Amino acid sequence: MSRSIVSKFGGSSVADAGQIEKVRNIVASNPNRRNIVVSAPGKDPLYREKITDHLINIATDGDHFRNTRKVPTVAQSREAVLGKFRSLMKDLAVQDAFPLEELRDDLEKGHEIKNLHQKTAFYASRGERYNAMLITSYFASKGMNARACLPEDFGFILNGNALDGKVQPESHDNILKIQDETSINIIPGFYGITEDGEIAILSRGGSDLTAGEVAFAVNAEKYENWTDTNGVYEADPRFIPGARVIPRLTFKEIRLLSCRGFNVFHFDAMISCKKNKIPINIRNTNRPDEKGTLILNERVPEEGVVGIAKLDNMAYVYLEKDLLGEMIGFTAELLKIFQEYNINTYHYPTDKDDIAVLVNQDDLVGIINDLRRDIEKKLNPDYMNVVYNQAVITAVGLGLKGDSFTVMEAISVLGEHHIPIEMIDQSPSQICFHIGLQQAVADEAIKILHDHLLNGKT
Ligand code: ASP
Repeated sequence: MSRSIVSKFGGSSVADAGQIEKVRNIVASNPNRRNIVVSAPGKDPLYREKITDHLINIATDGDHFRNTRKVPTVAQSREAVLGKFRSLMKDLAVQDAFPLEELRDDLEKGHEIKNLHQKTAFYASRGERYNAMLITSYFASKGMNARACLPEDFGFILNGNALDGKVQPESHDNILKIQDETSINIIPGFYGITEDGEIAILSRGGSDLTAGEVAFAVNAEKYENWTDTNGVYEADPRFIPGARVIPRLTFKEIRLLSCRGFNVFHFDAMISCKKNKIPINIRNTNRPDEKGTLILNERVPEEGVVGIAKLDNMAYVYLEKDLLGEMIGFTAELLKIFQEYNINTYHYPTDKDDIAVLVNQDDLVGIINDLRRDIEKKLNPDYMNVVYNQAVITAVGLGLKGDSFTVMEAISVLGEHHIPIEMIDQSPSQICFHIGLQQAVADEAIKILHDHLLNGKT
């Protein structure tokens, strides 16, 4: 059997009939696209919410949106879900083949599930389930040999955590059993079934994970992740209009670039693909002629910097203590305090007798006084200060290894533009460096760095 391509289509790619027709054309244009993983329909036009969010709203009796101060009530969410499938059915002309009554029953039946987590998982999974059935009917109506492969039928087995299930190894054997040379498998992403026969879901955005596991199981030629962007950009294109799509990136580079604007897909989905050296190709459903970004285990470093990311909304806790440099265990104790508050720490720049810990500013909301008190009590620093409204710019590229000129160039060009730098950090891997600065100058700084390090402006 030839190696199949696993193609995953996200919510925006399957949000309406026009988008689903684009998906069909993409699938039909390559016979190796035999495993198609689909999300639930994306945002509905009325409430601008994803169908999955409406379903979670129904499961939680309206808490899902109430907590975020958004509008839809349970009744409105129910109507949004049914209305979406009704219109898809009509627009794709598959009224006779789509089980709308079954969906309606599910929306009632779910209320009988007593355990709130199991109930939420059941409801949340309905978007993917019925969308896969609908897309299968549509493909079949156009003469394609498509079949819906539902996780509960073929055995996509997750562990018992209803809302954050982990894929069990037997799922891979079960995925292999549904392969054949001629059928196009339409697989709903995001959910599976536990050994006890209960529906469980993966974490949000989990259709990416389903597809990653399918790609691993069938040892796919590649894993295509079809979305609404042309690929991974050199810098966030919303702020840097000249940013270009990066053609090739390694798994390591994309991890280093991960932050808002770069998070085009679920990183856990990479793990299995990386293990089997399966390339991931991020592509745009609306521009199928674009090649997108390939994420690979290895690539030839043809340039220095490949992308620049910016972490916004950071703060650092700065401590000074005489002879800190000779105190064994001081840093460990400090980081343990952050761990006790469940705060993720990002960088720890040090001098001999001082240290700063960079964190996301939001994580300090409501706890900063307690945190300070604990640090004072346990470590008794001579001086402590918390500096807010910071940003960290990270330049990444395999080609940076052994090249210290790019770091120097970055610092000197920021100096020429009178941008003050608060922190510099580079790990011995040398494939990236981080520059901390005030949030107020961060947008200007990333633009300058993009111009000089990626656009070759001197
Ligand atoms: N529909 C699910 C979500 O919105 C899963 C996915 O789209 O990947 O999180």
